[in-house]
Amino acid sequence: MLDAVRIVLVGTTHPGNIGATARAMMNMSLSDLALVRPRTFPSSEAVARASGATGILDNASVHETLADAVADCSFVVGTSARQRSIAWPQLTPREATQEVLSRTDAGRVAIVFGPEKTGLGNEDMDLCSSLVVIPTTTFSSLNLAMAVQVIAYELFLATDPEPRLQDPESPPATAEEMAHFYDHLERLSLESGFLNPENPRYLMRRVRRLFNRAEPDRNEVNILRGILAALESKRWRGGER
Ligand code: SAH
Repeated sequence: MLDAVRIVLVGTTHPGNIGATARAMMNMSLSDLALVRPRTFPSSEAVARASGATGILDNASVHETLADAVADCSFVVGTSARQRSIAWPQLTPREATQEVLSRTDAGRVAIVFGPEKTGLGNEDMDLCSSLVVIPTTTFSSLNLAMAVQVIAYELFLATDPEPRLQDPESPPATAEEMAHFYDHLERLSLESGFLNPENPRYLMRRVRRLFNRAEPDRNEVNILRGILAALESKRWRGGER
């Protein structure tokens, strides 16, 4: 989905901001950068600030007008630090992300950023169907590349299929594995006298809620089952004595 998202910078004054935008995009899995009348491009300062994301700069397209930069896009939103007239529906980055990603089926989408000093002019806004405003204090103007970063982060969060915290060696436990664990725990809790057989449901429901919240992976459930099995065998040996 993110392949279909184009970041458009209009009238950028500082080439460093173009490089920092490329870096922000690569961090967040975006790759399509379009520049409208950049003051200086290509530029060594952009390359320096891209910090390795130079592929995005190399592939960036350069245009004379915003209309040209978004000609092949079926959905275009603008960004602005300040509220404009009511002509444009206003979205938070999170709302805009849902809107933008839902349109990627139909074709390319563009998110447009304005010049550092002045922001987008009304003639550029006329090409946009809504306006994304990043919530701030009354000091509302973010650095251009930082505004790109915030929007790119929201897009990435909404699409990242595999959070990298997941241990690839151990997939999440399946419902069946969890059911075996709960059965085992319930059985031992009953046998040990901890769980009252008159009212077993309530306790087990709370226990389930606890473990479901933790979303254990397969290894972790195996460890828990191993502990239960060890307790069980010890008790058994003790009983025989
Ligand atoms: N004075 C200008 C500030 C331009 S900052 C203005 O009022 O718009 C350069 C660009 O960064 C803006 O055109 C916009 O694309 C983006 N930007 C900066 N702060 C933003 C914010 N709070 N919300 C959304 N976009 C922002």
